[in-house]
Amino acid sequence: MRLSVRLLAASAIALSLAAAPAMAQDAATIQRAGVIRDAALNQNIALDYVTRLTTRFGARPAGSKAEQDAAAWAADYMRAQGFQNVRIEQFPLVGWERGEESASIVGEHPQRLVVAALGHSPGTNGLIEAEVVRFDSLDALNAAPAGSLAGKIAYVDAGQMVRMQDGSGYGPLSRIRSGGPAAAAAKGAVAFIMRSAGSDEHRMPHTGTTRYVDGVVPLPGFALSAPDADTVSRLIAMGETVRVRLSSTARVYETVSQNVIGEIPGRSRPDEIIVLGSHLDSWDLGTGAIDDGAGGAITLAAARAIRDSGRRPARTIRVVLYGSEEVAQPTDTGNGGGAYLRGIGAAVEKHIIAGESDFGADRVYALGLPPGAQNSDFARAAGRVLQPLGVLASPRPELFGGVDIGPLAGAGVPVFGLNQDGTRYFDLHHTADDTLDKIDPEQLSQNVAAWAALVWLIADSDVDFRAMRPAAAGAH
Ligand code: ZN
Ligand code: ZN
Repeated sequence: MRLSVRLLAASAIALSLAAAPAMAQDAATIQRAGVIRDAALNQNIALDYVTRLTTRFGARPAGSKAEQDAAAWAADYMRAQGFQNVRIEQFPLVGWERGEESASIVGEHPQRLVVAALGHSPGTNGLIEAEVVRFDSLDALNAAPAGSLAGKIAYVDAGQMVRMQDGSGYGPLSRIRSGGPAAAAAKGAVAFIMRSAGSDEHRMPHTGTTRYVDGVVPLPGFALSAPDADTVSRLIAMGETVRVRLSSTARVYETVSQNVIGEIPGRSRPDEIIVLGSHLDSWDLGTGAIDDGAGGAITLAAARAIRDSGRRPARTIRVVLYGSEEVAQPTDTGNGGGAYLRGIGAAVEKHIIAGESDFGADRVYALGLPPGAQNSDFARAAGRVLQPLGVLASPRPELFGGVDIGPLAGAGVPVFGLNQDGTRYFDLHHTADDTLDKIDPEQLSQNVAAWAALVWLIADSDVDFRAMRPAAAGAH
């Protein structure tokens, strides 16, 4: 790798000489990006952080004592890694506790079902026992006649999620989870059940938040593991009347959550900020290793690798471990991302770009830059620096960024994406199997190297992504 890196650096210098007037990155900056990248591959901060976080605190549900204590610990960890201006910013939150839950098919041949209540579902207040009516999509449920599900349990089984590199099978299924309980309530149902939004065949339900409508989650909702969803659907296909008994002691409570923020201050333009985001909270079933302990590990270790290079970048790198990404709220506060945006006020204009790592720990395969940056000098420099890691320049502009940096994007801050291989992400996502052993240390290091090299290139330059934006996309 050493030889090819040197050749790449040389070709990048040739390019910078050939290119016309204002080069955003000088040759020394590009060369140093390669040095930082290679050093990051051999650094073990990311694995150390995620090992300690998941082992010591376990699951970190939004607003829980575990999330609060992990935040205090993470702030200390950042200070020990040489971050400056480390602080914790609290915000109010409605927390949710799962309690005890169970589900079974009742009748002549009772069968236990493996389920998980959907986040922020109300409890069942005793037992609910009713006939199940199956739909193969949320649209079909929405199309059911008014009142047709009175006293029944609505069941949506849209089929197994397909494993895709970009995880694109997840979106439609997560919409069933967020919108299903309200759709079922509108037809008179007493509860909502669904096939888990996941791609595995194991007997593990995938939890995840459902949505409030007018300040309430109207019905208890549950996700069935894939084999249990198969059983219920097969029984109905065989012409059986399926009755299910559900119980849940889930409850909500008033609490606080928090963002943890730390910086590598810029050398010459410290008021210009680059945000590296991830979330500290996790679901309660596993220990939140891939979702999203890994994201904090990757961004924190990348910033540390830049600091270790011996030269601070021109601009400030700000690592934000957001609180409470996972849960919906009775009113749309934007959770940690919203609290961060409210906290920075007018400084949002000085936010150069934001990126978020919240897609596990498997390797990065593509870089998405903000609209208008695809054919820029910056894109060419980034492409050369990331190529030895096997990372392609995506021709598609990055618009979304992620849930935590969504409020920044909405306020006009450009976003980037280092897109990770999501092929196996949704086998584990929001299940009891989201644990440390699922992280491949080599792929984790490749992430750190990609983040460190790219962020250095942005931070040690005057590249202006807002100025590259096509006119039509500039308006917010
Ligand atoms: Zn996440
Ligand atoms: Zn999640």
